[in-house]
Amino acid sequence: MGAIPVLDQLGDVRGKRVLVRTDFNVPMDDGRITDDFRIRAALATINWLTERGASVVCASHLGRPKGRPEPKFSMEPVRRRLAELAPGVDLMENLRFHPGEEGNDPAFVANLIDGVDAYVDDAFGAAHRAHASIVGPPKTLPSAMGLLLQKEVEVLLGLREQPKRPFVAVLGGAKVSDKLGAVEALLGLVDSLVIGGAMCFTFFAAQGKPIGESLWEPDQVATCKRLLDAGKTIHLPEDITGLDARGQYATFGTRLPEGAKGFDIGPGSAAAFTDIIMESRTVFWNGPMGMFEDDRFANGTRTVAQAMADTKAFTVVGGGESAAALAQFGLEDQVDHVSTGGGASLELLELGDLPGLAALRGAPNA
Ligand code: ADP
Ligand code: MG
Repeated sequence: MGAIPVLDQLGDVRGKRVLVRTDFNVPMDDGRITDDFRIRAALATINWLTERGASVVCASHLGRPKGRPEPKFSMEPVRRRLAELAPGVDLMENLRFHPGEEGNDPAFVANLIDGVDAYVDDAFGAAHRAHASIVGPPKTLPSAMGLLLQKEVEVLLGLREQPKRPFVAVLGGAKVSDKLGAVEALLGLVDSLVIGGAMCFTFFAAQGKPIGESLWEPDQVATCKRLLDAGKTIHLPEDITGLDARGQYATFGTRLPEGAKGFDIGPGSAAAFTDIIMESRTVFWNGPMGMFEDDRFANGTRTVAQAMADTKAFTVVGGGESAAALAQFGLEDQVDHVSTGGGASLELLELGDLPGLAALRGAPNA
C-alpha cells in the first residue's frame, strides 16, 4: 500500500481554495451546541492552511437528515461557532441535505469541488464511509489528510503493526452485532480480550448460562460460540450487578436468576479487569462496561476508565460513549489517545484501511 499524502504534500497553498472535510457532527440540544470539541479539534488543520495563505471552506454532515434539508440539522449554529474560532473560514450547509452525499453522486462531487484547488480530509469519524465528500474530491484534486486524521491513522495502524505486548482489547457497549467483525479481527491482533457491557450476555448465552432479562442478541450466539472456541483468551465478567425480578438493585454471579436484568459488571469483575489493564503494555478500549448513564451502574465503567488512566500501558479509547464516559469521569487527558471515531476506529483496526484513506492514496499528488 502506498503512503497517504500529508499536508506538506499539497505544495504551496498560498492563494489556493482548499476544501476541508471536517467532522462537525457535534452534539446538539434544541438548536444549541452542547460540546464544541469537534470544532476546536479541527482548528489545527484549518490554521495550518490559513497561516500559509490558503482560503478554507469546510464541509461536514450533522445528524442523519435523509437526503433533504431539515432545519433542525442546519449547520447554522456550527457556522456561528466556527466564525468565532476561525474568522474568515467558510462552511457549507449540511452535506447530508443532498442525497448525492451518501449516494456518492459524481454530479454532487462536481458541485462540491467547483472553484476548489485542493482537498483535505480531517473527518476520521466518517472515513469508513464511501460518501461523495470523502472519496470524490481526491479523484481529481491534490489531496492530503489533515492533522487529526493523521494522528488517528498513526495510532490505530500502530496498534495493528507493532503493539507492545501484552496487548489487550477491552470491549463493551450495547450492540454485539455492530462489533463482532471487529472482535473477530481483534482476536488475531491481541493477546487477550476483555468483554463487558451488554455484550457479555450474548457470550454468557453462548456458554449456556441463564441471563435473565438482560439485553442480548440471539442471532449472534453461534458467532460468540465460535469466538469462545477459537483458542484465544477471552475474559468475561465473574459477577454482574443489575436489578432483580422485583426491580431491586442486586449483585449476581454469572448465572442470572429468572427475571433479573444485568446492567453493569460486578465489583469482582471490575477488580479483575483492572489487574489485566495494569499488567498490559497496550490497551484498546471500546464500549462502556455497563449502563453508566445511570449512576447505580457506572461503577464498572468508572473503574475501567480509572485503570486506563493509571496503567503504564499505551492506552487508546475509541467510541462515542466510551469517550463520553471518560470525559464524565474527568480522565480524558490521562489516556494516550481518544479516537474521534467509534465505527471508524474499529474498522481501521479490523481491516487496516478505510475507503477515505484509500481515496487519498489515489490522489493525483500522492
Ligand atoms: P460506544 O459508543 O462507546 O462504541 P456503544 O454505542 O456500543 O458504545 O454502547 C453504549 C451504550 O451501551 C451505553 O449507552 C450503555 O448505556 C449501554 N450499555 C452498556 N452495558 C449495558 C447493559 N448491560 N445493559 C444495557 N445497556 C448497556
Ligand atoms: Mg455508541
